[in-house]
Amino acid sequence: MRKDVILTYLIVVGLICGVFVGQYLYDPSYNSSDINSVHKHQFILDIFEFFGSSLFMSLLKMMIIPLIVSSLIYGVSHVNDFGSLGRIGAKTLIYYFSTMLIAVTVGLILVNMIRPGVGTIRQEHIEQARHRAEMSGMSSDSSDNVSGNVSHKTSHPRSLAGVMLHLVTEMIPTNIISAAAEGRPLPVIFFSLFFGISMILAGDKGRLVGEFFSSVYEVIIRMVSVILWLAPLAVFCLVAWTIARIGLGIFVSAMAKYMLTVILGLVVHGLIVLPVILWVFGRTNPYRYMVQMKQALITAFATDSSSATLPVTMRCAEESGGVSRKASGFVLPIGATINMDGTALYEAVAVIFLAQVFGVKLGMMQWVIVALTATLAAIGAAGIPHAGWVTMIIVISAVNNSVIAMNPNMRVIPEYSIFIILGVDRFLDMCRTTVNVWGDAVGAKIITKLEG
Ligand code: ASP
Repeated sequence: MRKDVILTYLIVVGLICGVFVGQYLYDPSYNSSDINSVHKHQFILDIFEFFGSSLFMSLLKMMIIPLIVSSLIYGVSHVNDFGSLGRIGAKTLIYYFSTMLIAVTVGLILVNMIRPGVGTIRQEHIEQARHRAEMSGMSSDSSDNVSGNVSHKTSHPRSLAGVMLHLVTEMIPTNIISAAAEGRPLPVIFFSLFFGISMILAGDKGRLVGEFFSSVYEVIIRMVSVILWLAPLAVFCLVAWTIARIGLGIFVSAMAKYMLTVILGLVVHGLIVLPVILWVFGRTNPYRYMVQMKQALITAFATDSSSATLPVTMRCAEESGGVSRKASGFVLPIGATINMDGTALYEAVAVIFLAQVFGVKLGMMQWVIVALTATLAAIGAAGIPHAGWVTMIIVISAVNNSVIAMNPNMRVIPEYSIFIILGVDRFLDMCRTTVNVWGDAVGAKIITKLEG
């Protein structure tokens, strides 16, 4: 059997065992969002956390910045002429935006049909959320009154234009070394693309640098192959750690209908919409390609992080998925940071769900705002655990502002309400991250087919 096949089997076994062992160790009295709560099997969980998070995820994260820099510079330098660079760039961006908007639309249709927020939440959940928000220093005013209750304590942009401006400012670094040291991918992407383009402009004199980075890229991909042998154990630990803390019982909790709506949306988008797009534009059997990408998809599920998964995604795409190095070097690193179909869908569903819970009336205008800001908030979300949950505040603020602009006496969605869904966020994050990575992989394959 090929080494790669053995590795994949081991990862799948790790995943399945993780679910069973996690459920076996589950402690119902443990409250994962209370830092003072201690798990019955805390010692075992600490070991799981060590292997999953401290070891495997740190090793993967260590690769992210060198990988982004070398792959983008390599990718740009191999495209060589500006005409095709522009074409690939434009197609990639069109792909990212259109698939994210489609994902949001799928989510909005489902949440409108299922209406999970109508009558499923108990008052105590709302009280708990308010309490947690207070503990974390967020405004927890009541939702029952007006404009005054839109908290302005957080530093998130509040309008559609504000979100766009924030993205652009975030992208251009004043100091690239400190941006890289802080692990911020957007400035590093911007710098690397700019560097790669300037290298083409430098002609023969810049060629040496191109060769250097392509060699760095080769070495990094090898490093990733070595790290991947830890994946079976790490996936087992990460999944067992998660399930031992939240339990499979969350599926029958009061939030089940909400979770079901998000998961159904992700399934529709991941198993129907994206495959159809791949089949139509990439002339590829989507399900075979999905199987080829399985190591990356399982890693995304277990780690909750598109960025940490990026090294695995690139390796799988090139070595099993038949994606060209040019496309993988260009589409995947940018995609891991900005293309998040799963997150966009999740944010749209979650915000409408919370609006339903608090009886906030939304008109056509607010639905459009949800669609656009959820897309932008997903672009702005880093590829790390719970980033989508945090940037959801942007969507809530934009919706509230537009509600108030129309009628200052209308109810709005309280910002503390995001704490209502925090308890079930970990599992939804695993699912949406998988769809995020799948969306990137589909994009890379389509660009490979379109650009050769
Ligand atoms: N964890 C997600 C990712 O890394 C982002 C999110 O929280 O939605 O892709």
